[in-house]
Amino acid sequence: MIVVMKAGASPDQIQHMIERVEELGLEARPIYGAARTVIACVGDKRGMDIAILETGAGVEKVVPILSPYKMASREVKPETTVVPVGEFPMGSKRIGVIAGPCAVEDRSQVVETAHAVREAGAIALRGGAFKPRTSPYSFQGLGEQGLEYLAQAREETGLAIVSEAMSIEQVELVGRYADVIQIGARNMHNFVLLSAAGQAPKPVLLKRGWGATLDEFLFAAEYVIAGGNDRVILCERGIRTFEVHTRNTLSLATVPALKQVTHLPVIVDPSHATGHSYLVAPMCRAAVACGADGLLVEVHPDPEHAASDGAQSLTPEAFAQVMEEVGRVAEAIDRSL
Ligand code: PEP
Ligand code: MN
Repeated sequence: MIVVMKAGASPDQIQHMIERVEELGLEARPIYGAARTVIACVGDKRGMDIAILETGAGVEKVVPILSPYKMASREVKPETTVVPVGEFPMGSKRIGVIAGPCAVEDRSQVVETAHAVREAGAIALRGGAFKPRTSPYSFQGLGEQGLEYLAQAREETGLAIVSEAMSIEQVELVGRYADVIQIGARNMHNFVLLSAAGQAPKPVLLKRGWGATLDEFLFAAEYVIAGGNDRVILCERGIRTFEVHTRNTLSLATVPALKQVTHLPVIVDPSHATGHSYLVAPMCRAAVACGADGLLVEVHPDPEHAASDGAQSLTPEAFAQVMEEVGRVAEAIDRSL
């Protein structure tokens, strides 16, 4: 952290700030410039409310240098973390595609989709047993019965299972059936849920809140890691902007930006990001091209009759086509499916 003094700050003001910094247990190293003085502060400031220093007389601003998310940061762990999704190493040279319906609707829907996406090269099956729906009158998911169907699909296909938990009790329940516990966009700021996921014995797929900055997203991941679980996959799924042409605005620049500051694997969900099936294929290709470690894609055997998110769901045939295209993009950047 650096305390930047105002041009014209008096020697007394500078001395006072040096003492304030030392009071916080940090070493103060003043650098006296021609126009202004800055005080470099050496020591670990994370967890401190450093903004309080801005109240000091003669202070212009306080600039943090080390990233405040300690355990999610690449400064602390330079090599990319590989998170297991079943047997698949997410965060390796291989691109991991997780695919399946928005919601588990019945046994045959899930099992049929599982066979189809595995055939096309997916490494895991997604499907919500508990659905966070905007309207309380919309289909809310099958609950534990849905988790049982997912487990049956895993038995038949060998695919790992990814499913969402929306409450602390569901973390335990979903964790019993699924290989990866998903925390949805609506719950990215639910800190008690994040901490509970930190205690889960399964990896966590954390989706970005649609109003969350990159820093807030990483702080959410930090909650999970601080809770004791360092197997976190970040998922960019679009943010809310003025644009209504797409369901959300897919912020693809966030992918390389995240990968620069965190060692956690980053995947992209083009389905919720765009809301339209015709946009899913091009955004899958673009996501892989810009460095995503994986994809989360909604696939339904009969999108027209899907209980939720049919408009953004790919048919198994369309998904197979996407996988082929994505495979070629991956090769072009020296990666593979
Ligand atoms: C989902 O992936 O099922 C989902 C509800 O997505 P999000 O939390 O990103 O809206
Ligand atoms: Mn959905």
